[in-house]
Amino acid sequence: MALANDRLGVARALREMGRLLDLSGEDAFKARAYARGARVLESLDDATFERLADEGRLTGLQGIGAGLAARIAELRQTGRSETLEALRAGHPPGAAELARLRLPAARIAALHEALGVETIADLRTAAEAGRVRGVKGFGEKTEARLLDAIRRLEEPTPTRALLSHALGDAEPVLAHLRRAPGVTAVEIAGDLRRGAELVDRLEVVAASGTPAAARAHLLALPGVVSITESRPDLHRAVLESGLPLEVRVTRPDRHAAALLHATGARAHLTRLGGIAEARGLHLAPAGLTRAGRDTPLAARDERELYAHLGLPFIPPELREDTGEIEAALAGHLPDDLVAMEDVQGFVHCHTVYSDGRNTVEEMARAAEARGMRYLTITDHSPTASYANGLTVDRLRAQWDEIDRVQEKVSVRLLRGTESDILADGALDYPGAILERLDVIIASIHQRHRMGPAEMTRRLIRAMAHPCFKIWGHALGRLIPSRPPIEVDVEAVLDAAAASRAAIEINGDPHRLDMAPRWLRAARERGLRFVISTDAHAVDELDNLRYGTIIARRGWVRRDEVLNTLDAAGFARAVAPGAAR
Ligand SMILES: [Zn+2]
Ligand SMILES: [Zn+2]
Repeated sequence: MALANDRLGVARALREMGRLLDLSGEDAFKARAYARGARVLESLDDATFERLADEGRLTGLQGIGAGLAARIAELRQTGRSETLEALRAGHPPGAAELARLRLPAARIAALHEALGVETIADLRTAAEAGRVRGVKGFGEKTEARLLDAIRRLEEPTPTRALLSHALGDAEPVLAHLRRAPGVTAVEIAGDLRRGAELVDRLEVVAASGTPAAARAHLLALPGVVSITESRPDLHRAVLESGLPLEVRVTRPDRHAAALLHATGARAHLTRLGGIAEARGLHLAPAGLTRAGRDTPLAARDERELYAHLGLPFIPPELREDTGEIEAALAGHLPDDLVAMEDVQGFVHCHTVYSDGRNTVEEMARAAEARGMRYLTITDHSPTASYANGLTVDRLRAQWDEIDRVQEKVSVRLLRGTESDILADGALDYPGAILERLDVIIASIHQRHRMGPAEMTRRLIRAMAHPCFKIWGHALGRLIPSRPPIEVDVEAVLDAAAASRAAIEINGDPHRLDMAPRWLRAARERGLRFVISTDAHAVDELDNLRYGTIIARRGWVRRDEVLNTLDAAGFARAVAPGAAR
């Protein structure tokens, strides 16, 4: 029988293999490897999975070895798996599903033989009818325990969504709520408002003069699989994506305090609470009150709440108690964190020349439609053969094409490359070619797992190259599957500062690299940044939004971001080989 050979179908088959291996008493490590592989596939999006699989690059993901990659390839190509078929033949039908209840193989076989049980639903029916207790080796207590375990399995499992997916899920919810009668404000809150890379739920705060009407409207929210709780002030549901949703509805005069509290982080709120107490005030989700009084101080928005505490507005991305309170008290809080509107050029874009899905002209027109002044075409270099990296001849052909497209569009096209940083720290392409480019992003794509000392030497050597101007997706993390490379980050940032290289803030929602704490370490050294899209298709130009969020979490200011400059200024700032 053919299996579904798309991403989730393949993940399901891997999970089944893991469960059957476990039942067969195979070594637990092997069984877990299959489960981990399934989780990795589930965390990717379809396009990334297809791309990596087509290019034979799945083994670049943490948790996918050569063996698993071969099983995945077989499943994708044939819709079958010899391994899975052999495992299934050794067990009664439905054994993998029943193994989710942690039943040993002998018990699954006994249930099948006595009652014909092949699914968890069969088992539930039999247990509810009191027929399981009669099977040899089972009793009333075991039957009750099994029913319990089945109910627990049916509860929603915690999911974590990428920033981009959660923001996508939020849009229809916000739009629906804005149409509710009496609703005066609707905002995203929680970890998502603070720009977390991964979130475990979508939190929304709405203000309404008529909460009952807002609640009725919420009950009609589309795209919901189940409603877990519905009170006038709190509505909980699970969205089709699996992401839990929490909507708080407050009266308009309490909206600011409710939003502040639902945004967090807890440590930030604790500090604000202390500042309030020192001023004879009390800060609670219902509002800011003077000691001994019930009526909260008027605050139309968060800015006015902070003002009551003697503080300027603190942007949500900074609310972590990592120095923002001290900075606000001392009057040093940056009031010019970079915003999406500040960015004038899309940096780091791929085309069909390497592993992108759109042509130079399509990318250019999309950039123009989004109001950008310039676009850097930075396809992969020859060493990245798995990503169809460009030979020198194909690179020259691309220059001709860029010239032809430039005649037709007003957005300025900069010719560039995403050059591999080779294992020894050299850059791809001869120096004479690199010097003819407008922009070079240098990135690690292979040999992620060398020792930290060797990796540090590799990067420091790369940064000494006069054409090293932008460090692409610096630490190589893939969210959630691959951790950052092991390297002495401080030493490498020192080298970047010495060579005046810029740090990329990569907007690909799986990368979002460097992480905010390292952006701050880079800022301390006076380093400059580019916020990039790493777009492999026109719709990924919108990755700029996610990159900007991470930049703000790193306290990055507008003037520190090179692609807030106009095209000429940007080109000057990153020109390969230019004096430093
Ligand atoms: Zn790359
Ligand atoms: Zn790239």
